[in-house]
Amino acid sequence: MVRKVTIIGSGPAGYTAAIYASRANLTPLLLTGVQSGGQLMLTTLVENYPGFVDGVMGPELMEAMRKQAERFGAEMVAEDVTAVDFSRRPFVVRAGDVEYESHTVIIATGASAKLLGLPAEAKLMGRGVSTCATCDGFFFRDQNIMVVGGGDSAIEEALYLARLGRQVEVVHRREELRASKIMQERARKNPKISFIWNSVVHDLDDVEAARVTAVRLRNTKTGEITERPVDGLFVAIGHEPNTTVFAGQIELLPNGYVKVIPGTTQTSVTGVFAAGDVQDSVWRQAVTGGISRRRTPGSV
Ligand code: NAP
Repeated sequence: MVRKVTIIGSGPAGYTAAIYASRANLTPLLLTGVQSGGQLMLTTLVENYPGFVDGVMGPELMEAMRKQAERFGAEMVAEDVTAVDFSRRPFVVRAGDVEYESHTVIIATGASAKLLGLPAEAKLMGRGVSTCATCDGFFFRDQNIMVVGGGDSAIEEALYLARLGRQVEVVHRREELRASKIMQERARKNPKISFIWNSVVHDLDDVEAARVTAVRLRNTKTGEITERPVDGLFVAIGHEPNTTVFAGQIELLPNGYVKVIPGTTQTSVTGVFAAGDVQDSVWRQAVTGGISRRRTPGSV
């Protein structure tokens, strides 16, 4: 059986594609991955997704999107895609032990925030640890915030958080920022932002209390460990698009994101589309993932 539409990925972009495709009678197959739901499954309260006056828990929102797609008949298979062949028609998508043939494919595999890899970081994710200032900054009004990273994302997050927090400390593993000069200048001029150089996060408290209370830093030059009282830790060390499986099959940008024709979701292969964060290294919001059109910074 050759499918009309196969969607790979089950974040906001994947479920939105499934809702629209099933309502258009295209009987889509959605390969959700073994862990479905995408990045919002790692968050707690989401307060900026339109339509939820009092906010909604990330996993609850994703469950609702899933049920909405199922309601219109989208078929879901909880397998990870391990290979694709876009050189022949119909396209072939391998997931688990099965090869699916499909006339069109929508890639919605998203991106993943890079993490520090500490056990406490994973346990406190959504409980004081965050990878998105726009999403979670509001929870740390007038509190002590720490941002890890030295690139444009880290500085952008720090500038955003400085509007909300009491103070923002940027921790960087070197003594020179990678961020663009203009962003650096803005941050240096901001009285709420300070820098801690040559330092990495060694560990964080308090897993038992299920909230962040302090961060222990290790100086990379001296090895000295110092403790800072912190309420929110924002990890901003970059994102990685989930595109490994598509390398060599469609054109990717130098940063690994899927290249689409500007203003569209069309990739370099006719009939293969990309939606959401996998083709958007700029906005990275659930609401824009659902809209899935190409944007340029500054546009609405
Ligand atoms: P990035 O440029 O790759 O920077 C990542 C930062 O995190 C680097 O400073 C890196 O340190 C640090 N880092 C990486 N792994 C680490 C680890 N395990 N522990 C501690 N620190 C770690 O990523 P990005 O800031 O997300 O930016 C990605 C791209 O988007 C860039 O091209 C950037 O210019 C662009 N961007 C632009 C804007 C803007 O213009 N407004 C905003 C956001 C992003 P090192 O420096 O030592 O490698």
